[in-house]
Formats: sequence, C-alpha cells, structure tokens
Amino acid sequence: MVVSGVAATAPPIPPPFTSLDVERIRADFPILSETVRGGRRLVYLDNAATSQKPRQVIEAISRFYSGENANIHRGLHYLSERATAAYDAAREKVARFLGAGAPSEIVFTRGTTEAINLVAQSWGRSSLRPGDEVLATGMEHHANLVPWQVVCEQTGATFRAVPITDRGELDLEAFDRLLSDRTRLFAVGHVSNALGTVNPVRDLAARARARGALVLVDGAQSAPHMAVDVSELGCDFFACSGHKLFGPTGIGVLYGRQSILDAMPPWQTGGDMIERVTLERSTWAAPPARFEAGTPPIAEVMGLGAAIDYVESVGLDAIGQWESDLLSRATELVGALPGVRLVGTARAKAAMLSFVLDGVHPHDVGTVLDDEGIAVRAGHHCAQPVMQRFGLPATVRASFAFYNTPDEIEALVRGVERARKVFG
Ligand code: PMP
Repeated sequence: MVVSGVAATAPPIPPPFTSLDVERIRADFPILSETVRGGRRLVYLDNAATSQKPRQVIEAISRFYSGENANIHRGLHYLSERATAAYDAAREKVARFLGAGAPSEIVFTRGTTEAINLVAQSWGRSSLRPGDEVLATGMEHHANLVPWQVVCEQTGATFRAVPITDRGELDLEAFDRLLSDRTRLFAVGHVSNALGTVNPVRDLAARARARGALVLVDGAQSAPHMAVDVSELGCDFFACSGHKLFGPTGIGVLYGRQSILDAMPPWQTGGDMIERVTLERSTWAAPPARFEAGTPPIAEVMGLGAAIDYVESVGLDAIGQWESDLLSRATELVGALPGVRLVGTARAKAAMLSFVLDGVHPHDVGTVLDDEGIAVRAGHHCAQPVMQRFGLPATVRASFAFYNTPDEIEALVRGVERARKVFG
C-alpha cells in the first residue's frame, strides 16, 4: 500500500486495478448499501475516522449477547467459562496478528487513546525525571501528543517534537539531532492520519533504541491497512483501535514488550487486576491483567476477534495492493483538478488524500460532498500542529478502505468539481 503520492500534472490515465472481489466484499458490509440525504447512494470515504463493519463482526457481537453473555474470570459456571475461553482466544489471535511474542504482551484497552495514556501514566509517570526527554513528531494525532505533554509537566521531563518537511515527511536530520541520551521514549505514528505519510518506523525505532530510548508506535492508521509485526518493527509499545480495524468501538490494543510491562505499575486499580488485597495493602496481578481493571469490554473483544478473522480472510497483501491502486487513482484525478492542492505528498503514503481547494473552505467542500452522499472528513483531524505547520485551518480528507471502488473515486472527483463551481 506504499505508493508515490505526488500529484500528477499530465492528463490522468487510469492505472489498471489489481483484482479483489470488491462486490462480494461490499455485500458483507450492510451499511454500504444504505442510501443517505434523500436517496443518494452512500460513498463512504471517512475510513480513517472509523471504518464500517462486516456482518461477520456484527453477528459475532449479537451471538455473544444472544447466547454466550457472561462475565469472565469470575464465575465457575458454564457460560462464564466459555466467555473466558473466548476472551483468552481473542487475545491470542491479536498477539498473532501483531507478531507479539506472547498473548501476555497484549493488553485490551478502550482504544489507541487509552493505550497511549496507559503508557504515559504508568511507565512515564513512574520513570520520567527532570532532565529526561520524550520525543514525538510534529505529525502526531493529539492522542500521541497530549498524553506526553501532560506526563512531562507532571514529572519535569521535557517534551520535544521532530519537525516535518513541506512534503509531510519527518525531517530525519532533525530527528538525529533531537535524539540524545536524554531521550527516554520516542513516540511516533506509523501512518499520519492527517497526511497519510507512512513513517520509516523500523529504521527510526532502531536509531532510537540504539540511544537507549523506548519506542511507542501509534498504529491506529496502520494496523487496518498493512501487515504489522511488532518484533520486526522493533518497537516496545504498539497501540491500535478496533473500530478502525473493521471491529467495534470501545476496544483497542496495547502491545508492550513483556519485560517492560512486567516492570510497570498499574494505571487504574480495582477488580481483576490484583493478586491479593488486605485492608492494609494490595499487590498486583501480572500483566496483562494488571492493566485491565474492572469488567473489560467482552463483547467488543469478540467483535475484534471476528474483525481480525475477516481482514485475514481478505488478506492484508491484497488489501494493501487494492488500496494502493485506489490512492494512485485518487491522487491523479483529484490532484489534477483546478484549484486543488494536495497536503501531504510523502513518497510513502497510505490510502488517504488530504487536500484544500483554492478559495473554498474545507467545511464547504465537505458540505457539498455530503449533499451528494459522499462522506469525507473536513477539519484539523485531531492534528492541529500539522495544520499549523502548513498554515491551514483545516483540510478535506478522503480516506479509503478495501471496500471502496474506482467509481467512488470518480464520484469524489465530480463532487469536488461541483464544490468549485458552487463556491469558487
Ligand atoms: N492516532 C491516530 C493516528 C488516529 O488516527 C487516531 C484516531 N483518529 C487515534 C490515534 C485515536 O484513536 P481512538 O480515537 O480510537 O482512540
């Protein structure tokens, strides 16, 4: 799914599409046959915000509530045993999906945001000291910025960010300058949700770890679109969200290297995360239970397991190839429209297109597209420093998934042309 993302100036020649049985896939997603805005066919191009769910996921959740619902770990009755076994099996599936060494390296969270806050407040709050530094980048989602700013304020550590270039790539010379023996943790997005840039995480992680820093990868935008192997990436933490991975909301994953998780104190406390409690003091269970206080989102875990099965049945290589073709076509067609400026033209890009239209506010473009039944995002995409870097209040972002089609890109192109005529 890594493609060159430079706008074409020549007349667009549609590239051939790789084969994916997209109509069969679309039939699995009930919402894709909905109509919106008075009978318009839904064209859903807001996948970076959240993706749609196949019936296999919807049915897994429904099946759990209809015939299997029970709390886990607490009861010795039949349903509780089954729910516990299914919950543990889902953890094993996630561990395999992400290339973790063991299921105990997988902590279930509410999402990427909670996973990063967990690391910041558990590892960060207990280990950072004045003089230490946390290095992030200027293209992070707020979820991978604000928790680090806050924990730096709490501990007296210093927060720094690697700047980005005009193309929307990380400034690697600046990265090398900013990285030092003081850097305790490097927090980096695998794929930028505002620009689509795919960062060279493996190389960056190797450089950071060579200086003794831990590496946290925000994989919210990569896990749904490319094969991820945390051991190959060489990171210490990896966070992602179920709802972007064609699974339910309310469930996310934190991968943590076992030796680091073992040494981390709990973040939230209460039921299910303890070893022994007396009225004087309490001791903690081993990870991952230590980090899963209270009743977890059990049905959502079932849904996430079904989502991973679904994605694997389509195949991440096939998904990557299809999305790369979608991105190439969208880049050529949208990039060639008069008045359009693509924001984020990194050499390695994931399947999303951020752009502005001369003289038209991104929200107005979004409204015209919405009128046509086309769902995109217009805004700062929870990455205000990126907007500040490019001197923009907002961009329009079309983000693709493997169920999107070349026809839908053409609908997007017609919609943007219409926005220019209406407002331009
Ligand atoms: N990081 C990135 C790169 C994202 O795109 C998002 C979601 N937009 C998040 C983190 C936060 O994910 P969630 O809201 O699911 O916690």
